[in-house]
Amino acid sequence: MYTYRVMTELSRREFAKLIAAVGAAARFPQQAHAVAPTIAIQVGAVSFVDEGVAPVLDRFQQDAAANALLIATFSYGRGIAGRQIPGQPLPDHGKQEYDVNFHGGNYAHTHEQYYRDTSLKEIQAPDHPGFDVLASVLPEAKSRHMKCFCWYEDVFRSDLKGIERLLEVTLSGRKAGTICFHNPEVQAFWQALTEDYIRSYPVDGIMWGSERQGPFGNAIGAAHGGSGHDPLLVTCFCNFCKQEARSRGIDQQRAIEGYTNLAALVRESRAATRLTDGFLVSYWRLLVKYPEILAWEKLWNDGQQNTYRNIYNAAKSIRPEVEVGWHIWHNNSFSPFYRAEQDYADFRPYSDFLKVVMYNNCGGPRLASYVNSVSRTILADFSPEEVLGMTYKIQNYKETSLSELPRKGLSANYVERETRRALAGMGGTVKIWPGIDIDIPTGHDEKKTEPRDVREAVRAALHAGGDGVVLSRKYSEMRLANLRAAGEALQT
Ligand SMILES: [Zn+2]
Repeated sequence: MYTYRVMTELSRREFAKLIAAVGAAARFPQQAHAVAPTIAIQVGAVSFVDEGVAPVLDRFQQDAAANALLIATFSYGRGIAGRQIPGQPLPDHGKQEYDVNFHGGNYAHTHEQYYRDTSLKEIQAPDHPGFDVLASVLPEAKSRHMKCFCWYEDVFRSDLKGIERLLEVTLSGRKAGTICFHNPEVQAFWQALTEDYIRSYPVDGIMWGSERQGPFGNAIGAAHGGSGHDPLLVTCFCNFCKQEARSRGIDQQRAIEGYTNLAALVRESRAATRLTDGFLVSYWRLLVKYPEILAWEKLWNDGQQNTYRNIYNAAKSIRPEVEVGWHIWHNNSFSPFYRAEQDYADFRPYSDFLKVVMYNNCGGPRLASYVNSVSRTILADFSPEEVLGMTYKIQNYKETSLSELPRKGLSANYVERETRRALAGMGGTVKIWPGIDIDIPTGHDEKKTEPRDVREAVRAALHAGGDGVVLSRKYSEMRLANLRAAGEALQT
């Protein structure tokens, strides 16, 4: 069931103590963790550049009892790379200034020979010239018996040379800023980057993440921040997707017509207080009249699932022992439409581990944002408070009222429930490392992470049987007291 980990005598002794401590604190039998839990932390290149490799690793080991690194090796987003987001308070370590010229890209060296089959190949991050994060960190981490994973995600900028041919196309026919899973060059790109990492560096594994959903979920605004989604900008309707649709016998004209009608209904819902037959009936009627809407949603999802499978196969064909896993988007906790599409059982054949996002602090404002969005589209027959109550029932956790939610966040009980659900879904064949949030930026007057939150969330994840935790999203935004709280959770 588990891959047995090789540990030094020292680390084994330390872990025996930690496990005994956690077991005693949480009152669960010690044999629940025959193997020491993976305490992983997400960290970007900028932290090693700013603070030095050895001091950062010292801190991770001493303060957080970390034994694994998820190194942000590729992204064009500030969620996992770069320093604190400008406008948010800088944490009490690292350079005390914002990286306003953040660009992103590949923070390891890019080996050109692997990128033959994609026009997107000039991906070297210009942020830290001459600094290869993997070459710099791996030797030091290995000497400390810390596992190293490449952590890369599906976030791009549209001004990159060679990306044009890979971009998705919106319902309205415009190029999007996202890349299309049914485009062979996109699959070639992810496989090239994977091959580059696995062949060029002695990493222990990889984790890839795609915080995106299909056109139906986006059209109805079923995500945090969803109220700002323009339903005419849903994707993808490129020629590769149309070709895929033809091979499945899906009528593309009917799909486009269905999504155009859906966009009109969403716009009407956001403007109206009442529809003659109500909102849910109107949406359901449209789905029945245009089954192509959900067929296209599945087509999009299948492309994303193929990407997981292709990355997994690419990595395993080169070095079967590498651990391959996925970052599962927070929307899995909010939208039942999205949750339905993340069937844990589907992940089993191509996953060694899942980092399921269970960010309980920022989860408060994010859940409120989701609720406020869908209560103006498909669930507009209900008040936002009623939608929240319904969401708790459907998703099987119960937290505070809508008025308190953004300020209070979600509790450790939510982490515990979601951990149990993931473990049950995986049937014990895939490791579950719940993602715990430490100082992910939230709005003014919204929930901020405190040490107690971290202690309780880490304990809840392990108490529920999680195989570890992932401290998220990036060290460069974490305050030290909160980082220390992760270590404290294991000690007391
Ligand atoms: Zn496409």
